[in-house]
Amino acid sequence: MEELIRKYNIPDGFYTRYFKQNAEFRYGVELLQFLYFKCGKFLNPSKKDFYINTYINEEIDNFYNKNQINLPHLSFCITTKCSLKCKDCGSLIPLFNEHGHISISLEEFKENLDKILASVNKIRRLILFGGEPLLYNDLDKLIDYSCKKENIDIVQIITNGTIIPDKKILKALVDNNKKVYLHISNYSATKDVYLKLKHNKIRELLKDYDIKLQMDDGGGWLKEFGFSNEKSNPETTIKKYKKCFCSHCTQVLNNKMYVCSKGSCAIELKLVDADDYVDLKNSKNLKQDIIDFYNKDYLKACEYCISSDTIVMPALQN
Ligand code: SF4
Ligand code: SF4
Repeated sequence: MEELIRKYNIPDGFYTRYFKQNAEFRYGVELLQFLYFKCGKFLNPSKKDFYINTYINEEIDNFYNKNQINLPHLSFCITTKCSLKCKDCGSLIPLFNEHGHISISLEEFKENLDKILASVNKIRRLILFGGEPLLYNDLDKLIDYSCKKENIDIVQIITNGTIIPDKKILKALVDNNKKVYLHISNYSATKDVYLKLKHNKIRELLKDYDIKLQMDDGGGWLKEFGFSNEKSNPETTIKKYKKCFCSHCTQVLNNKMYVCSKGSCAIELKLVDADDYVDLKNSKNLKQDIIDFYNKDYLKACEYCISSDTIVMPALQN
């Protein structure tokens, strides 16, 4: 691999943000496809490093010799409306309650997705995210539209577990149950929200319909400190970005592709002044803009972002 990095003179940031992420997401997606949807082949977790190295080599070949680009992961913030008001929300969602909410229209979603898919060969994992995506009226249509795209490998809906999917959403999940699954962010250890959680009902319902459900272990969150008025220097920002668990979270919000959910919301809320997103509506060469986006060691929002090492309970409410 070192040889290929030298041969193509691959910058460190591009290697990490593009090739390594593609390989890691490909491994995770292929494993899920086998476990949830019985397609593809079993990847032995004890050989994970071998698969990742193989996939990095293939991705380098795809990019430099076959002119192909693949998005490792893309999350659409379909609405900033949420049923909770978490103090340490990593997307700063409660701030939209005063600012005014942003929700994507069905037409915008289709336009954004079609444009992206016309410029890239594949999206490995597409996420429909919020706020709380189950508050979005046309979620069923977004699920249907995304799952019909052959060059999207897997679709994940991330919910906070406070809302039971209605009949329309259940139908879309059933109709597409070889590609889509629901993920519940698990806040059950937190008293503030415990009574609002509908985990058991959701679990039973999805089991009846054979819809795949994933739930995380509900571990602690990092305390959210927002943004500073002063920017950090490039060396510190690179370190901050490399350590940040959001660094793989490319997110679309308001027709722009941003570094992560926190960065995207901060820019839309005008807490940070940055223009280094991919403009999905006005781009004249989207493929090149996406390559340039992944070629950055970090994005401007990262310069102002205050990182955190303080662990707190998940979903503590304001
Ligand atoms: S962390 Fe999730 S559930 Fe909590 S306010 Fe943010 S988007 Fe809503
Ligand atoms: S803005 Fe940068 S440093 Fe801050 S959370 Fe997003 S990726 Fe991480």
